[in-house]
Amino acid sequence: MEPERMLQILFSLEDASVIETVVIPSARGRTTVCVSSQVGCAMNCQFCFTGRMGLRKHLSTAEIVEQAVFARKLFSDEFGTITNVVFMGMGEPLHNVDNVIKASSIMVDEQGLQFSPRKVTVSTSGLVPEIKRFLNESNCDLAVSLNATTDEVRDWIMPINRRYNLSTLLGTLREELRLRPKSIVLFEYVMLAGVNDSVDDAKRLTELVRGIACKINLISFNPHSGSQFKPTPDEKIIEFRNMLIQSGLTVMVRLSRGDDQMAACGQLGAAGDYQLPLLRVPEKFQVAL
Ligand code: SF4
Repeated sequence: MEPERMLQILFSLEDASVIETVVIPSARGRTTVCVSSQVGCAMNCQFCFTGRMGLRKHLSTAEIVEQAVFARKLFSDEFGTITNVVFMGMGEPLHNVDNVIKASSIMVDEQGLQFSPRKVTVSTSGLVPEIKRFLNESNCDLAVSLNATTDEVRDWIMPINRRYNLSTLLGTLREELRLRPKSIVLFEYVMLAGVNDSVDDAKRLTELVRGIACKINLISFNPHSGSQFKPTPDEKIIEFRNMLIQSGLTVMVRLSRGDDQMAACGQLGAAGDYQLPLLRVPEKFQVAL
């Protein structure tokens, strides 16, 4: 499959920090802008290039909204209207929850950017109190970066799980979404060879999300320099997808694209001199790396 073209915009802020925004046209007539919410990120997800930077700063509401405004100005002629906004660039959006809620409300406001709330998606690694707040204060969609089916793996690859484990995270979503019966959560699942892509993972994933109105997005891992993980082969991703579909889930697959230009989920930013530490690899997964 020919990778679709992605465009990367670099913004230089007043303090000389650089943030990155990606515009992703799709063959189905949808053009998505992926905005950053922080410079760097504090969450230290082990598969993520941005996470290696550590947190440098939160972006202001204006700095977030302007990314979508500029993308519209620069690329509407070439690709048609920007139809979707995803908060999946640099940073953990809900770690900057005040500004992200304000920015997303401007994006959907009639006097703002006039996107449909169903076309604006805020992604999180699983900050439970902020998820509750977001679901209570925003009418935009929520995506949760799940990426593991056991606490052992998630504690390792997404350290936020040590504070809010799978049971707490998914229990909160189940509870809160009862109050928003029309909402559907998007679970993102980056597929890492030998780490989270087994038949047992597919079975556990089905059980974990039971009772939550959701879609699953399986994402091919884009290896980056310094990465210890390997991507799950495409044919194995398809098998994994088929198992989930057979158990009744709605599943999308995003096979790799954009890895040639370091502009894909978890690959934005420059690690620089300072890097957060890599965490100890559980013994049984050492062979997978
Ligand atoms: S995956 Fe998201 S939350 Fe995790 S380190 Fe990367 S940017 Fe931060």
